[in-house]
Amino acid sequence: MATTSPIKIGLVGLGKIAVDQHIPAIRNNPGFELVAGCSPHARPEGISAYNDMAAMLAAHPEIEALAICTPPQVRHRIAKEALATGRHVFLEKPPATTLGEAEALRDFAAQKRVTLLASWHSRFAPAVNATREWIAQRKLKNMQIVWKENVRQWHPGQAWIFAPGGMGVFDPGINALSILTAVVGDQVIVKKADLHIPVNCDSPIEVQLEMVTEQGGVPVRADFDFLQENLQTWSIYAEAEDGGKLALHMGGTTLEIDGAAVMQEPEREYPGLYAHFHALIANGQTDADFAPLRIVADAFMLGKRIAAPEYVE
Ligand code: NAP
Repeated sequence: MATTSPIKIGLVGLGKIAVDQHIPAIRNNPGFELVAGCSPHARPEGISAYNDMAAMLAAHPEIEALAICTPPQVRHRIAKEALATGRHVFLEKPPATTLGEAEALRDFAAQKRVTLLASWHSRFAPAVNATREWIAQRKLKNMQIVWKENVRQWHPGQAWIFAPGGMGVFDPGINALSILTAVVGDQVIVKKADLHIPVNCDSPIEVQLEMVTEQGGVPVRADFDFLQENLQTWSIYAEAEDGGKLALHMGGTTLEIDGAAVMQEPEREYPGLYAHFHALIANGQTDADFAPLRIVADAFMLGKRIAAPEYVE
């Protein structure tokens, strides 16, 4: 029987998400072989690490694909260099700091005839497909997103998050928007945005968004908060004209329909993402949907800036 050799992959950026999710997901997928990684300082155990991508590729020219797990501010430059060498590219979310950068990467990948995956890990949460099916069968009355977490708990030492291009609370909030845009079956238009920006930061710590679906006219409200202590909340609610109610909790692992729990499954987003990346490469395809990034860009364009108290980690 013919066997296909695993795709040789390198990691760029060896921080929290690379260590927590990418390394184990790649190692548990027989379709990939993790060759090496690079990062200015981080040296996680058990992986050959280089200071930068050029040094890694010089030492390992056999690398065929690269996953860019850096902060977003350097993603475009690194991804462009990676695509220029003809490697397939997996972009962590958000795919870039601007729509212009993201679209340029998509065009360049097409020109180089390689695969580009603009990944949205939350779309691989177990209850997202069931949510899409429930919504497709109903006329919606409204939707609400409540995405509230403690930045000090989940992002210690990540100064990039409040710098320009770091997106602040949109860094987790865009995960909710990636689910919204995957399940709603319609374009989502931003009508109002309140951006609460600490006086010593460049990106918001709290955001309220009012959106509406373009064809269905369904109002969608989102509340993002980065200062949530105690109970952390990553929930999306939908109410239908027929009175039906759906609640997606814990980032998409738990689903309630009309108040009854119908699904509660362990989180397996990154194994799903790497299976998807493998299939895209095998089929010569690209997946680069920027709808969640567009909502964030529109919120920054339309949003009212409100001064919030100084943020001290
Ligand atoms: P992080 O812990 O700050 O790690 C980022 C890593 O990128 C750092 O180790 C840093 O290097 C490295 N880096 C910076 N500039 C680089 C460059 N020019 N070349 C190579 N490496 C570079 O951040 P993170 O939490 O892993 O987040 C990274 C991305 O993943 C963000 O876009 C985030 O939105 C996304 N993400 C994060 C999570 C999460 O739970 N943390 C979940 C999903 C997605 P050194 O440390 O070596 O200096």
